[in-house]
Amino acid sequence: MGKIHLLPPSEIQKIAAGEVVERPASVVKELIENALDAGATEITLFFEAGGKDLIRIIDNGCGMTEDDAQLCIQNHATSKLTTVEDLSAITTFGFRGEALASIAAVSHFTLKTRSAENHLGITIAVENSEIVSTAPIACNQGTDITARNLFYNVPARQKFLKKDETEWRALHQLIIAVALENLSCTFTVHHNGRQILLCPSCTTLTERMSQLFEPAIVPHLLSCNQTLEQKETSPLTFSALFTRPSRTRYDKNQIYCFVNRRWVKNHKLAQAFIKGFRNILPPQQYPIGALFLTLPHAEVDINVHPRKEEVQFLHPIRIERFIEETIATTLDNTVQSDLGAQRQNNFEYAHTSSFRPATRPAFNPTMPTTAFKNVFQNYNAAPLENQNNQCCTTEECVHEQQDTLVPQTTSSSARLIGQLLNTYLLVENEDGLLLIDQHAAHERILYELFATRFGSLAPIELLFPQLIPLSSEECNALLPHLPFFHEQGIEIELFGENRITVRAVPAPLKNSNLTDIVRTAAHWILEGFTLEETNIVEKLYEKLRAMMACKAAVKAGDVLSQEEMLELIEKLGAIEHRTTCPHGRPTTWRFTQYDIERFFQRCG
Ligand code: ADP
Ligand code: MG
Repeated sequence: MGKIHLLPPSEIQKIAAGEVVERPASVVKELIENALDAGATEITLFFEAGGKDLIRIIDNGCGMTEDDAQLCIQNHATSKLTTVEDLSAITTFGFRGEALASIAAVSHFTLKTRSAENHLGITIAVENSEIVSTAPIACNQGTDITARNLFYNVPARQKFLKKDETEWRALHQLIIAVALENLSCTFTVHHNGRQILLCPSCTTLTERMSQLFEPAIVPHLLSCNQTLEQKETSPLTFSALFTRPSRTRYDKNQIYCFVNRRWVKNHKLAQAFIKGFRNILPPQQYPIGALFLTLPHAEVDINVHPRKEEVQFLHPIRIERFIEETIATTLDNTVQSDLGAQRQNNFEYAHTSSFRPATRPAFNPTMPTTAFKNVFQNYNAAPLENQNNQCCTTEECVHEQQDTLVPQTTSSSARLIGQLLNTYLLVENEDGLLLIDQHAAHERILYELFATRFGSLAPIELLFPQLIPLSSEECNALLPHLPFFHEQGIEIELFGENRITVRAVPAPLKNSNLTDIVRTAAHWILEGFTLEETNIVEKLYEKLRAMMACKAAVKAGDVLSQEEMLELIEKLGAIEHRTTCPHGRPTTWRFTQYDIERFFQRCG
């Protein structure tokens, strides 16, 4: 007997299904598109375990007759095209007649549907691509599809499904995109028995953004709408609704790009949008945005990807520049008009505020120096020659600085000269001059303290537990990680829908902005959604530590007393990674006597 044999049709179907559906989000994308194609104005979704255990979608669209219902789960069954030529003219979403057949091949699948012309609907159950039961059923007009245990019969694919949370985030992102594209449809979403979203049909994108994110973003939204004439063909248009730099997030994933009204994942478009902000975004923070690009169909290939998620442009650079410029101009104009409105009020303030009287204690040159004299025996600081490393990444910075550290100084005495610009501490040691950034130094000290003692720092109960409103997305990101926060002494509890209370925090955080900390942490989790659980926790732990250190540290501009300065210098001297702050910025610069003499051309 030969080695070659034909696969049974059910196996072929399962393999082919992987082309169309890969994870819960891709299943849901197909099902929502079908519902919208069927004219639905209300779509209700239920999920369990990130869609892995249950996907159910109920729509009020046209429904199907009994015959159509039996046919629709056959491969290449479609009501949307009959010849290949139709492909280019197609206006509906799905067009290959493969989605239902694929989903039914790899899940426990049930379909209930009724069309307007029938009084009774039909329910059909499918297992391994075979119809196992059909029965008449009384139901509303529309379609109700349930797919349970996705890939239960294709273990190789099931293995690649991510943890619930990760799949849920992909689903959630998809639903936001669909809701942004289809304002006239009402979307209701439940996950694990909780209602997560309720977006009634609406008429403006602003209204939809406020339903999807939070009403508080509305005053921070900016819009633009620009057309670019093209010589050879019809124009490009770009319109967008996005948050100003005053309302940013720590995750990049809330930038939704639509090309000819289809949601696409195109890194370059999002990048061009961010570039348009021209460095006015806080570090590592990103706006929320819905971007709509319209261009002649011949200039975009939307079918490069079997799931139609990616696009290719004929003139990518032109498009990216256009987006970047439009955003930059919009922001410029806004800043100008904001300034115009405020100029009157600020005029007086500008005159009185630039010179702040120094309230710090007068410098006392006879101050005792013994308190920290030993510190500088081992004080390794970044030497002057090492100044040109500004543009390296954090890791490189730390690395480079450690590699080029000068041999330890042997000074046995050091003297605090004072505070410069309320930001830098000047210290003289036998070797020369140390210039210490008070914020960076304190941040490093606290970071190291948290590293060793964070969990064990006794939490203190807040007198007034703080109530923090969150978006449903933020809330869902945080919930599975509550034990992690408890371990860090931050006691968080869910408080009704999309609100949490913080009851206790470690002492160094008692005066910090907890809303900021909690929301930032939620965004890190969202951002890291592609990571495995242990990596998320690790990353979260790292970042949380750094953030808390940053929030609790003295700031540039804080006036410090002699005692505070001494304490800071002493503690800095006592820790290991003292040359950089947790973000990799140097804490200290060292100017040796030789450096200083060189400045003044005293040495040959
Ligand atoms: P395609 O969307 O490419 O035609 P699908 O497998 O997604 O292929 O769907 C097959 C057919 O089933 C559709 O053409 C449509 O006629 C019908 N159908 C699917 N979902 C729905 C729905 N929610 N309401 C009404 N008809 C539907
Ligand atoms: Mg379809």
